[in-house]
Amino acid sequence: MLDKTKIKDKLEKERDILLEELRDMGKLNPETNEWEATPEAQDFPETDQNDMADRFEDFEAKSSMIKTLSPRLNNILRALKGLNKETFGKCDVCKKDIEVGRLDANPAARTCKKHLEG
Ligand SMILES: [Zn+2]
Repeated sequence: MLDKTKIKDKLEKERDILLEELRDMGKLNPETNEWEATPEAQDFPETDQNDMADRFEDFEAKSSMIKTLSPRLNNILRALKGLNKETFGKCDVCKKDIEVGRLDANPAARTCKKHLEG
């Protein structure tokens, strides 16, 4: 039997961590519902080329982190939403129960070990 309270707790904690990390690097665009990196505030208008390059690199790094983190967040939000549905804990492919150990390690898992995504 799945301990949904435990799973919910775990998902919410993970969600909060991810949200915190994402807020450090960007903001959620309410129109597209996608996270976007925020450029570093420009303190000095007369910045030289090196500063510009640094800033660009920083922005790129943030963007790529956001690209990694936001699908994870969406996956967790989806799992939280579906937690009380009958389909929760069932493999997307074969519709059988996902192994408890797998759900324990990754509560947002959508497939059983056999149909592991990727
Ligand atoms: Zn399966």
